[in-house]
This record gives sequence, structure tokens and C-alpha cells, in this order.
Amino acid sequence: MTAPLHPDTVAVHGGRSDLEGLGVHALPIDLSTTNPLPDIERGGDSYEAMATGGRPPADGSMVYARLWNPTVARFEAALAEMEHAEASVAFGSGMAAMTAVILAHTNAVGKRHVVAVRPLYGGTDHLLGSGLLGAEVTYCDPHEVGRSIRPDTGLVVLETPANPTLDIADIADAVRQAGEVPVVVDNTFATPVLQNPIDLGAAMSLHSATKYLGGHGDVIAGVVACSEETAEALRRVRAVTGGLLHPLGAYLLHRGLTTLPVRMRQQQENARRIVQWLIDRPEVAEVFYPGLDGDPHGILGRQMRGTGAMIAMRMRGGFAAASTITTATALFTHAVSLGGVDSLIQHPAALTHRPVPPEARPAADVLRLSIGLENAADLITDLAQAFAAAATIAEPPLSERATPLSDAHTGAVRA
Ligand SMILES: *Cc1c(COP(=O)(O)O)cnc(C)c1O
Repeated sequence: MTAPLHPDTVAVHGGRSDLEGLGVHALPIDLSTTNPLPDIERGGDSYEAMATGGRPPADGSMVYARLWNPTVARFEAALAEMEHAEASVAFGSGMAAMTAVILAHTNAVGKRHVVAVRPLYGGTDHLLGSGLLGAEVTYCDPHEVGRSIRPDTGLVVLETPANPTLDIADIADAVRQAGEVPVVVDNTFATPVLQNPIDLGAAMSLHSATKYLGGHGDVIAGVVACSEETAEALRRVRAVTGGLLHPLGAYLLHRGLTTLPVRMRQQQENARRIVQWLIDRPEVAEVFYPGLDGDPHGILGRQMRGTGAMIAMRMRGGFAAASTITTATALFTHAVSLGGVDSLIQHPAALTHRPVPPEARPAADVLRLSIGLENAADLITDLAQAFAAAATIAEPPLSERATPLSDAHTGAVRA
């Protein structure tokens, strides 16, 4: 076939080109930890090729599952195609993927500096700031990428839409500012259904596959889509450090990809209905959702095909109201993570963004919603009854409601 396939078709057929030759229709799961070697020479050559980031030679062996696994490789091929990338490399978690990206780009002589655009997922912010990987980090706003670059900068880290406040950063502009320095975009919230960072010049599109790609809350995984050359550097780190994705997880992710476009469209449709309801609610001080500001710079339309299914909101009743709501919902599970078929609610400052320094931490009145596939009206009814429960406990005096939130309401939790 010559015409490019529609993304919905790629999601169903990607990474399956060898199945017919194998005589199977569903994805096989290959659990071998070790593989027969044809002879010492070809076994050794295969080991050498993969330990340095390459693929198994045609006449060789996969040698050992820390170097190569066909079930994982099929998922990687499918995800690469969905991200318009040459290759992708899968890991045992989103953080293992980010760790490999940082290591691969800060270990060359004279490259130990990373520019990180805030806000970022709490775990990424923490990993960069912890110094654990030996990288030196400059945090900045999207427009400050250019002036933050130094001769020893090896990587720019950007997340858009960002976790948890759905800030949108202009990927093409960040890439322009970064110049020669490769940019990794955390594409977890948008997924390849809504956004393809590589088309906008990013070197890598990274996912916590735990979220939308898996979509059912039963796999922890990460994946980076990139050029074959970058994939070699990442596979080398993966082979040496062992941050592997297990083939059972790869199987579930690959299966999950087939419904990703449909799930994303329906979850987004639900989210839009819920946003419309939230913006009129007196209990809600502010709703964070892409495009609510009218997209004044036109970034959204330029780089995204939709607004997604994540919502954040500031509660007028402050931390007390937010806290009550998390325990009062029935359909929304009070839990971290996101992107699954069922809806979740959580408090970023206390949980996902707890390791973030106070100055960059979300406010204490912010709640984050991950909208699932339930009926939107049922979800709205659930939120309405949770808001009512919060009102009976934490209703602030009317005089306070009309005034802006004080520092006491917005200050980060320091529990
Ligand atoms: C969850 C998440 C991560 C980390 O992924 P894990 O699979 O939990 O290791 C990274 N980035 C974003 C945006 C996330 O939501």
C-alpha cells in the first residue's frame, strides 16, 4: 500500500507484519529469557551488536532477553509508527524511560547540563533535581529555553500538556530555541492520537505507557519514540542498566494501542462535557483545560488535534473542600495515575507533585481529574454530590467566597 494509512488503521495493524509468516492472528507472547546460539562466533557477534544498542543480526540470535524480546519489539514498532518515528524503545516504567533519556544525553564528555521546562510531572522534576544521575539542571519557563542553553547542555525536557495544570507549551518554538540540543517531549497526556512531537522537530516523544497507551490500569511501562540512531543509544542504556519492559506488559500495551484512538476520542468527549459543567459551578474557582483561554497564540490548533481528557480545577473551599471531595466521590476513584478507562481524582500537591519544591508545587486547592469511559452524565452527578458533601463541611463564609483566595488557601501542603 502506498497512501499513508489513517492513524486509526495504524493503531490496529502496527507492529504485526511478521504474524502471518508465523501463522498466527493474535499477538504471540514470547517469554524466553535466553535463546539458542547458532555457534559461538555468530552468538558473540549478536551479543556485541545488541549490547551496543543494535538489533539482532538476521543470521544470529537474540541471545538474552535483556538485549532483545520479540513481543516487546512488536509493540515498539507499532508505537514508532503511531508517533511518525523511525523507532521506539520500551522500558519498565515511564521513569525508567526518562532515566535512560537523561543518561544517554548527559554522559558524553562535556555534556552534563539539562534544561527542564516547568511544570513537569512530579517524578520527572524530582529525578532531575535529585542529582542522582549526575546531571546539572536549569529549570525555566517555555520562553527561556534559548537563554538557558549552555555549551555543555545535552538535553531539553518539555512536557505538554503539562501535569497537572494542562499548561500548553509551543513544541516547535522550544525546538527552535534549543538549536542543536535534542528536545524530549513528554507526550503522556496527549498520546500520539492528539499530538506527534517528532513532526514538530522534537528528537524524542516519551510516554508513561502506564497511562493512556495501556489504558486499563494494569501495566507499568514507558516508551520513547525517536530516530534509529537515538534508539541505539537508548537500547544501550537499557541493556546495561536493565530497565526492561516485561513481554506480558508489552503484549497488553500492544493490544491496548488498538483501542487507543477510540478511547481517546470518547474520553475527550466526556471531559469536554464535564468541563462545560464545571465552569458554571460556584464551588469551582478555576478550571484548567486546554483551550479554555481561547488559545490566544494558536499553539493548540498548530500542534494538537484535540484537547484530551485530563482536567484540573481549583476549589473555592480551598484544601478542606478538595480533601472532602476526594473521599466523597463514588464513581471517581481517589487514586493517582491517569488515562485509564475508569475515572480517577487526586490531589497533586499531596501526591503526584509532592516531591516538587514548594515554589513549583501546585496549589493546595487544586484537584486533578482523569476522565474515563463512564457515561458523562453519571460522572457529573457523582461530582455534584461530592461538591454538596464538601459544601456541608467546608463552606466558607459568603464574604470570603467573593474575594480572591488568600495565601492560606493556596499555599502548598507541607504535610
Ligand atoms: C506517570 C507519569 C510519568 C511517570 O511514568 P511511570 O510509568 O509512573 O514511571 C511521567 N510523565 C508523566 C506526564 C506522567 O503522568
